[in-house]
Amino acid sequence: MPLYICRVSFTHHLRLNPTLSVQTEDSKTVRWLHIIRNLPHQTSLIIGLAALGIAGVVAVLEIKSDKTAAALALGEMDASTAANAGYRWAFPLNQFTVEAHPLQRGEALGLLLQQKGFSAQQIAALVESSRGIFDITSLRMGKPLHFVCRNKGNDPKPWFIVYEPSPYEYVVFHLHDQPCVELIKRPVTVEARTAVGEIKTNFWQALTESGLNDNLADAMIDVLAASVDFYRQKVGDRFKVLYEQDFVEGQPVGAGKLLAAVYERDGKAYYAFRFKREDGKTEYYDYDGRPARKAFLKAPVKYSRISSRFSMRRLHPILGYHRPHFGTDYAAPHGTPIIAVADGVVTEAAYGSGNGRYVRIRHDKVYETQYLHMSGFAAGIRPGARVVQGQTIGYVGSTGLATGPHVCFRFWKNGQQVDHLRLHLPQPEPISGALLEAFNAERDRLLERLQAIPYHTPSAPADAPDDDVAP
Ligand SMILES: [Zn+2]
Repeated sequence: MPLYICRVSFTHHLRLNPTLSVQTEDSKTVRWLHIIRNLPHQTSLIIGLAALGIAGVVAVLEIKSDKTAAALALGEMDASTAANAGYRWAFPLNQFTVEAHPLQRGEALGLLLQQKGFSAQQIAALVESSRGIFDITSLRMGKPLHFVCRNKGNDPKPWFIVYEPSPYEYVVFHLHDQPCVELIKRPVTVEARTAVGEIKTNFWQALTESGLNDNLADAMIDVLAASVDFYRQKVGDRFKVLYEQDFVEGQPVGAGKLLAAVYERDGKAYYAFRFKREDGKTEYYDYDGRPARKAFLKAPVKYSRISSRFSMRRLHPILGYHRPHFGTDYAAPHGTPIIAVADGVVTEAAYGSGNGRYVRIRHDKVYETQYLHMSGFAAGIRPGARVVQGQTIGYVGSTGLATGPHVCFRFWKNGQQVDHLRLHLPQPEPISGALLEAFNAERDRLLERLQAIPYHTPSAPADAPDDDVAP
């Protein structure tokens, strides 16, 4: 087998969407929470982040060597028999058998290889060659390892193991001869897609009929929340969404990227347009270039209800006497991500007997926020850490003086605790000058594409009966 070298380069790319500031009680929300709550912790964290619109770290890999798994596998094979075979990860299936092994709790790759008869030296060499290509500790429970065994001969040991961290890429562990690890990125095509919806009974019905996935539906609500009151949906409201969808091997993958949306109510149209600024930041703006993102989110948890408001005189649920409540309580299931309501720097991440586990953030000279009763902090949350709006800083719990899982959200203005729901908070700066001109050009391009989307599918040929046709 020819020796080959995997030369790889990574770029990390973090995409952050504006975070949903609307609370809804619809069944989709309940379903989401149900799904999130019933997943193992590590997965629920990932899904939780996905729900927040954070696409996560996408490793972009460039393989300089053209000797991929297929070339290696075929190197020792009769090309004519391989030519007629079905393929999986470029392995001809008439020459290889694939056996899926879902990873169990406590299982490690090294242990599995040992059981398959590989020596400690071979395992060490494999681990060594994985450095910088694929982090073996990122193997996820429940995801299958695919053992690829040669049909010919009586070798019980797999020649390759394939693992798919995501539909975008797969890892091949080469076990035959020289152990080697290879990460192969599948070709991705991006296609523009559209969706339309109209409220006939309720918003949930319109969302379902539009065919938007949960992430795109979330994103649409997100970017329009500054101009549309989603608490008051009306029959007859309608919307259009223009988005991009990734396709891998003909299948849609990933959340989709919202490009533009319009929501119409009472003959008025509310727009949101995606715009990439010169500084590389991607934001959404309304028709006039006002940012869709607010300087402060309304709540530190998505999908929650206010269980206790800011009050100068409240009967304390545990202490049993009246005292001021300098915060707003949001009840949410244990473990729900708590998000920073604005960009800032963590000043405290500590434990207090009354407050339980809490985080305090300074946003600027004027504003600070605090989040109490957490079950735990998010990774990296410690004094001095920079956080961005919508970033998960901890998880809902009931540490300290709390009767049930909730986050007590506290807001300071110039050192005074205030009721943030009554506050007129500063808005992000609208864009202007050359940036506004660039935005206007992009907006007009997107607007044209939005306007080209029909609300109804084009009617059948003119002579066909169609009750949708105007007299
Ligand atoms: Zn409270």
